[in-house]
Amino acid sequence: MDTFQRFVTIEPTTGLPFAFFVAAVAVVGAIIGSFLNVVIHRVPREESIAFPASRCPSCGTAIWPYDNIPVVSWAILRGRCRSCRAPISARYPAVELLTAALFALTFWLRSGLTLSLPFDLAFVAAVIALVFIDAEHMILPNVINYPGVAVALVARALVPNLYGVASLGAQAHMPAWLLSVVGALVGALVGGGFLWLVGWLWERLRGVEAMGLGDVKMMFMVGAYLGWPLTLLAIFVGVLSGSLAGVGLMLKRGRRDMQMLLPFGIFLGVGSLISLLFGTALIDWYVAKF
Ligand SMILES: [Zn+2]
Repeated sequence: MDTFQRFVTIEPTTGLPFAFFVAAVAVVGAIIGSFLNVVIHRVPREESIAFPASRCPSCGTAIWPYDNIPVVSWAILRGRCRSCRAPISARYPAVELLTAALFALTFWLRSGLTLSLPFDLAFVAAVIALVFIDAEHMILPNVINYPGVAVALVARALVPNLYGVASLGAQAHMPAWLLSVVGALVGALVGGGFLWLVGWLWERLRGVEAMGLGDVKMMFMVGAYLGWPLTLLAIFVGVLSGSLAGVGLMLKRGRRDMQMLLPFGIFLGVGSLISLLFGTALIDWYVAKF
């Protein structure tokens, strides 16, 4: 297993084991996760994410830095505010742990110590924020999607991703960065366009709005970052997991209109992260098989 061998190898420029970097990236992930909690709470309420400092939503007491250590503080305080003992949602440590785990996996399985790393981690952070905001408020805010598209295009110029457009370049004689940006735009149009088309068809056939423009914009960002092959995989995984969850909910609650109440952004987000981490390997395996 190459992936596991890599875990115990020594990184040549520092002499440190690769596992040390994985652990360090996980710690960074927990800290970014703590910041994402602020984003998830404040962005849908249209509050500033910088000011004021974090405070208890129940009693308004400012949270001291020593009570703001990711995961640890929540465990020490047993999930309650130090001042008023009001319960603090388990979502806070959950987001911190999830971000730590996904950052470590992204570093381990995909980026390593490359220029791609900061962009991959920013992409993962944006998707986590979108998933949790969509779960609670059923919106995918523009203030995340729009800068996300811009960052994705910059990333694709600096770290060319030629997956799906490499053959095009052989004929066009384009420099790698330009070809990569063209690939990103194709990916954005495929991702956003596919979602828009499905929504449009659904509205025509059923006469109800199937999904908001937020999903379209989110997949525009995902498409720009991942390129069209990985984006189609992300949508496929999203639709599959969303349908399974929808059927599961219908069976459990015996309702037929459950699909309308499922925030689809959650499943598109899960699909995007699976596609980022395993997509290239999955598609290569699938293509080799047939
Ligand atoms: Zn309190």
